[in-house]
Amino acid sequence: MSDRINRNAIAVVGSLNIDLVVRVPELPVPGETVLGGDYAQFFGGKGANQAVAAARAGANVRMLGAVGDDSFAPQLRAALQAEGIAVEAVRTSPGSSGLATIAVSDRGQNQIVVSAGANGRYASDLLDLEAIRTSAMLLAQLEIPLETVQTAISAAAAANVPVVLNPAPARRLPDEILFSVDYLVVNELEAAAIAERSPEIDLASDRAAALDVARQLRERGVGTAIVTLGSAGVAWASDRAEGYEPAFSVKAVDTTAAGDGFCGALAARLLEGAEVREAIHFANAAGAIAVTRAGAQASLGDRREIEASLSQPPN
Ligand code: ADP
Repeated sequence: MSDRINRNAIAVVGSLNIDLVVRVPELPVPGETVLGGDYAQFFGGKGANQAVAAARAGANVRMLGAVGDDSFAPQLRAALQAEGIAVEAVRTSPGSSGLATIAVSDRGQNQIVVSAGANGRYASDLLDLEAIRTSAMLLAQLEIPLETVQTAISAAAAANVPVVLNPAPARRLPDEILFSVDYLVVNELEAAAIAERSPEIDLASDRAAALDVARQLRERGVGTAIVTLGSAGVAWASDRAEGYEPAFSVKAVDTTAAGDGFCGALAARLLEGAEVREAIHFANAAGAIAVTRAGAQASLGDRREIEASLSQPPN
């Protein structure tokens, strides 16, 4: 079947990054050179991470984004293809690909320089709007220009394609975007940024406050608001119901990509027709798996693992 007429796919619109990690005894101070160990290369970017999470959770995924014309570009495409993700709508933007250089000290501190590269140049004229209109769901984040996200969401909404938005990294969002979002997935920081208030209330320890935030997001125009609270679970509100879904009890090793694992799995399960509460339960299992292992994409679980967790009782 041609990818162009793939009407049961999730279109993920977002960033693709290469992460280069070097371990150093101490982080360098300005002007200093420190000698590190061998570098390790990882595939990242919230867009690519969530695409991989959704594909491993069982969804048919097509990636929409941009890479540069450097030596990383073919690797970024190949990494997604290896997960069964369609990359025909990943554009080439002359220049560098998205890159993060990360120094991690033996004391566990890190220093990160991000070059948005092609992600920053992914303007809306590079969007494959037809791929959005012919997909069954749109999943987006905010590591690409906001205007591109806005165009993608408008195209999806106009074609009745449900929209899942994870507004990360946190920033304020215009109401016209929120109005077209069917499922908004926010952590505490992202919720505070949208509500334009400081994150002074600890939502994780106050379920009622978290539920209140979910209701407020609905008042701003969002269909279903999902507030993730790390190990404290999820508060959510839709037009028909609301509630609180506990997290799975696991030993946290590295929380990187917990949110990405959650979002990808949530989209995959919603697309299968699951009710919100059930999709959140499924996504909680995926998020919990991601925290039990180191790394971003490397830590994301597959369908078999998610289902194995689901058969164990949450806390
Ligand atoms: P983000 O990674 O975006 O900051 P959260 O920390 O809220 O988002 O994590 C997203 C989801 O991942 C949570 O809703 C939960 O399902 C899961 N999760 C995160 N941390 C833990 C943890 N320590 N134990 C179990 N599940 C977790």
